[in-house]
Amino acid sequence: MTTATFSQTRWSLADLFDSQDSPKMEAALKQLEEMTADFETIRERLLPEMSQDEFLSIVQYYEKINVQAYQVYGFASLQFAADTQDQVALAFMARIEQFLTELQNRTLFFSLWWKGLDDGPAERFMAVSSDYRYWLEEMRHFKEHTLTELEEKIVNLKNVTGSSALGTLYDTITNRYVYKVEVDGEIQELTRGELMVYARHYDPVLRERAYQELYRVYGDDGPVLGLIYQTLVRDWANEQLNLRRFSSPIAARNLINDIPDQVVDTLLEVCQKNAPVFQRFFHLKARLLGMDRLRRYDVYAPVAKSQKRYEFGQASEMVFDAFAHFEPHIAELAARVFKENHLDSEVRKGKRGGAFCSTITPALTPWVLLNYQSRPDDVATMAHELGHAVHSMLASDHSLFTSQASLPLAETASTFGEMLLIDRLLAEETDEAVRRDLLFRQVDDAYATILRQAFFALFERQAHELVGQGASVEELANAYMENLKTQFGDAVDVSDEFRWEWVSIPHIYQVPFYVYAYTFGQLLVLALYQQYQIEGESFKPRYLKILSAGGSESPVKVLAEAGIDIYQAEFWQGGFDVIKGLVDELEAISV
Ligand SMILES: [Zn+2]
Repeated sequence: MTTATFSQTRWSLADLFDSQDSPKMEAALKQLEEMTADFETIRERLLPEMSQDEFLSIVQYYEKINVQAYQVYGFASLQFAADTQDQVALAFMARIEQFLTELQNRTLFFSLWWKGLDDGPAERFMAVSSDYRYWLEEMRHFKEHTLTELEEKIVNLKNVTGSSALGTLYDTITNRYVYKVEVDGEIQELTRGELMVYARHYDPVLRERAYQELYRVYGDDGPVLGLIYQTLVRDWANEQLNLRRFSSPIAARNLINDIPDQVVDTLLEVCQKNAPVFQRFFHLKARLLGMDRLRRYDVYAPVAKSQKRYEFGQASEMVFDAFAHFEPHIAELAARVFKENHLDSEVRKGKRGGAFCSTITPALTPWVLLNYQSRPDDVATMAHELGHAVHSMLASDHSLFTSQASLPLAETASTFGEMLLIDRLLAEETDEAVRRDLLFRQVDDAYATILRQAFFALFERQAHELVGQGASVEELANAYMENLKTQFGDAVDVSDEFRWEWVSIPHIYQVPFYVYAYTFGQLLVLALYQQYQIEGESFKPRYLKILSAGGSESPVKVLAEAGIDIYQAEFWQGGFDVIKGLVDELEAISV
């Protein structure tokens, strides 16, 4: 394909609206109001015996309202992301949020009716469209775990002052923390984000100080934070096990992700078995840092420090090139984001930090935000976010409700895109220091998203069991230390303050068992990548099939149709074999 050279620009939102006070926006808001009022009148027409055609037209109308709402909200939120200091944009977003919440409440009756419907008529209605089917089916998954309307109301009411209030209390306590670290003879007062920069610093003393300070602060409140955790875990057991009749604490989360319990068990088992791969990596890292043994403080220590920079035009060509090498159509789709001016890559004051890809509706090319600063990391991020965009575009034939991949599959194209780029860079890069940087980054990331998260999930599983048996906070902290020892073996020295690490992980408080989705997503991509390396050409159509399925089927089914059986431990092992290959290569170039 021919590549034009692109330069860094600000995006245009004109494919949505020209401005927030344009006549088109006014008309859209007015129409939304009218359509919602219209939709409310169908309430009395919702009958188990209505015709399939009537049901289909209701669903299509519901989709139409949502498409319009997504466009309005998409504009408001993207405008705000482009300049978070713009008070007018902020006020507009708040107004739209309020407006849409009201509309949502007015249309809520449809999903409530649908969930309460008997299986017979529901089956008849689901047959009307193969595309809406999974979305309709998924809403009904919770039918047997749903209580009576009155009980649901009481649960909601009591959660406000119960588990939600405890979650807020946890946030309020921990967000106030100030960390003090001595840097160059001066005491600095830092937020957690600022503190963690030192945890990745090249100076081993600063890394140590950062971690010690982090867990000194959390440890001081350890008994209180631990008590909050115990209470949330008991609340989870009361609601999910006793009232909703889930078979285990993790099963409630698995159903939300639509991943069978057995698959999650296999995934976590394979992770546990493969901890030694990362232990080998940590031994190597220690050697390169000139240490006998890595301390837990050094897990994210930088090893090489290459100064390689890639200017924007060159970076975009590298990404297109890596994508095109795999499949030209993917590169063409990625280029559409640039050509339609849906990419904001400039670094500007007030612009949201980090990077994201935002898909508004299936019909529109996604918008991508980057803060491009020419580091190798920035090129990888570009490949990652463009991978997300490609995923959406490949699935754009589906409805609004079925185009977006569900959480466990959401990072497939993005991480795969990054892998394609890294492979291409490694194939062309002759500078050993740059190669080593790239490989280290890969394995560091794999550790943080795969093994670390898997061991959090393993701890959660154990902690929920222990709390059920009446364990004290002290006993939970001991169990956490044991968990770390299994994870790191003899490769890493874990000092005692890490016994408080678990009380510093918001996810295990706010969204129990959320963390394994990271493990699932990342390891899935590595396993797919291994199949690509083994099979070459014949893998490509299967991979594209996974992406173009979007969210129109359950993860198990999407993958099964591409010939992948996630019930098999061997499949997940394939992902670890890729990591093992990276560590082998690192060992080879680090003699
Ligand atoms: Zn992502």
